[in-house]
Amino acid sequence: MAGGYFMSDGRLIVLERHPDGPREACGVLGIWGKERSAEVAHLCYLGLYALQHRGQEGAGIVTFDGERMRLCKGVGLVPDVFDEDNLAELEGFAGIGHVRLAGKEERHVVNTQPFLVRSSYGSLAAAQNGRLLNGSELQEKLLSAGTVLQTDSDSELILNLIAQSGEESLPAAVAKTLELIEGAYALVVLSEDMLLAARDPWGNRPLSLGRLDEGYMVASESCAIANLGGEVIREVEPGELLILDQGGWRTYRQQGAARKALCSFEHVYFARPDSCIGGKNAYLVRKAIGRELAKEAPVNADVVIGAPDSGVAPALGFAEAAGLPFEIGVIKNRYVGRTFMRPTQAARRMAVRIKLNPVVDVLHGKRVAVVDDSIVRGTTSGKLITLLRDAGAREVHMYVASPPYRFPCFYGNEPSSQSELVASGRTLDELKDLIGADSLHYISIDGLVRAIGIPRDQLCLACFTGEYPIAPANYWREEDGKEHL
Ligand code: AMP
Ligand code: SF4
Repeated sequence: MAGGYFMSDGRLIVLERHPDGPREACGVLGIWGKERSAEVAHLCYLGLYALQHRGQEGAGIVTFDGERMRLCKGVGLVPDVFDEDNLAELEGFAGIGHVRLAGKEERHVVNTQPFLVRSSYGSLAAAQNGRLLNGSELQEKLLSAGTVLQTDSDSELILNLIAQSGEESLPAAVAKTLELIEGAYALVVLSEDMLLAARDPWGNRPLSLGRLDEGYMVASESCAIANLGGEVIREVEPGELLILDQGGWRTYRQQGAARKALCSFEHVYFARPDSCIGGKNAYLVRKAIGRELAKEAPVNADVVIGAPDSGVAPALGFAEAAGLPFEIGVIKNRYVGRTFMRPTQAARRMAVRIKLNPVVDVLHGKRVAVVDDSIVRGTTSGKLITLLRDAGAREVHMYVASPPYRFPCFYGNEPSSQSELVASGRTLDELKDLIGADSLHYISIDGLVRAIGIPRDQLCLACFTGEYPIAPANYWREEDGKEHL
């Protein structure tokens, strides 16, 4: 039976599963069907599959059939949570969905999204990707006014702010809520009359609008719209509130932020290569980053390989610009999840080999340039370099398709603590020795910006520069009143 959290006619059944998994950014989608007869549960399910790379720890769908809203959510991958039976029960022509990133401590079904509540506006469901900077402050206010909250989730908070807004109409209530919240978000809210979708005023989180035969949809990434056979209309603008209903779609604007701040890490790693973010295709941007990197850094190698799979696109661009052969040097077994091993060095080495195996004939005796998108905690590159040396690589030169990741992300991407970032407080030489490379080269910030092709003052680069474009100082003040980042 699939893990789930089922709410139907006021009954609540909780079925749980707790698989472990990697971390990534969350994804949201929403579909409003053209005809009341449309069945959106399957479309939401397939759309969430397309967004699976953005979050593997939980998934959920809420549908509306004209009378009732139904919710099914659980921990794990999309196919762990949904099956034919529960999808058949999710009747309706409109729906929203979410795939979730979570820290270990909060990997529990109650924190998975969407959230579904009853309010004076009727049934309301919400799902969100991002992080509110003033979430704790707003939570405190609600709690002192007597609100009860089940979780720390920003979505639950947002639903309460909407429900308590005192506005006559739901669009006015959502607009008022958007004025209260600050931070990075892509938000979808489903009501009995409409689907509302909003993107933060900085445009930090991606969100696209598309047309489907069955109506209209929004999704964190354009690949979800394309995968459902839809047509991408455009990206939702920073600070835009869209309303999708029987009449089609219409748009409202919040007062804009002083600047845009699209998350540059979307182009480095988060987004699927077939998505367009900020008008740029993620695969082509990654190839361009690889080309810039080859222009900036010294290259003394016989062969270029990409770390599977995130390093492959920049490695292709790198090899092209360096005039070197690109090869598949390591094979990743896509079917291995978490491996249970005894904690000995030999067992750990075997666990890595089950997931990644080198192509010895490509590597033996060669000077290998290995390209990866980023070094975060440093464990992946260390393991990869050991693997390449074990396979007979004569030299291993590491090229990183993003600048040193030294500052925590406060806008919802993991890790949010500086101590976990291996590049923080280390010199390039120390890092090179730590991962065991013969040389280590990062792309410059200017090179990254050039490759993305979006002006620097419209991007968030905070995890590389420490300059936070979205009001951080007010929110990271410790007891002594000083700012700490
Ligand atoms: P590590 O340095 O061991 O943390 O692993 C870095 C690798 O994890 C990168 O090459 C990416 O493939 C992937 N990655 C990058 N950013 C993240 C992130 N925020 N969360 C999880 N994985 C990431
Ligand atoms: Fe993206 Fe880095 Fe900015 Fe976070 S700090 S939003 S990961 S660019």
